[in-house]
Amino acid sequence: MVEKEPIKASEIDTKFKYEITKMHGGEKLMRCFQCGTCTSDCPVARFSETYRPRQIIRMTQLGLKERVLNSDTLWLCASCFTCTDRCPQGVEVASVIRVLRNLAAEKGIVPRVFKEQVSSVLDSGYAYKIPELRMKKRESLGLPPLPKGNPESICKTLRGLGFLKHLEKQGE
Ligand code: SF4
Ligand code: SF4
Repeated sequence: MVEKEPIKASEIDTKFKYEITKMHGGEKLMRCFQCGTCTSDCPVARFSETYRPRQIIRMTQLGLKERVLNSDTLWLCASCFTCTDRCPQGVEVASVIRVLRNLAAEKGIVPRVFKEQVSSVLDSGYAYKIPELRMKKRESLGLPPLPKGNPESICKTLRGLGFLKHLEKQGE
């Protein structure tokens, strides 16, 4: 999340940090003193030039709501919780990221790849469409057919949670 654009006062939402600290997992956001331990220990940041959990936390503290919620890198977190385990201030970094993702999803800001995964789950019960060729290969090897998914039940749950209407909103 390396932002090169200068920050304008007009894009700062001073209430954003309070919004996050009221949510489960976001309570300790303001304890962060920017030591950088989360970034230096993050396995994703090690292989990315743009993903920096420390930066996400700081931008959230500063109220850069739109930048944070619209950032593609927000979705790179693997939820391994290393950052949360190692933060000397007890900031639940991984949980703050989850909270931010949930807020982004509520606005319909979900990367296409995840939308496609949901669509596949709703169609077949599987996160990825299994190619017909793969099925035939299993058969030719004498392997049993894959168990059928239960997309109806998943659909019912996601609809009940209000998740589907968020996905239908515009944005990626
Ligand atoms: S490890 Fe904790 S205190 Fe240090 S930058 Fe990350 S969130 Fe902030
Ligand atoms: S939970 Fe996310 S941000 Fe934290 S160390 Fe793992 S991948 Fe990095």
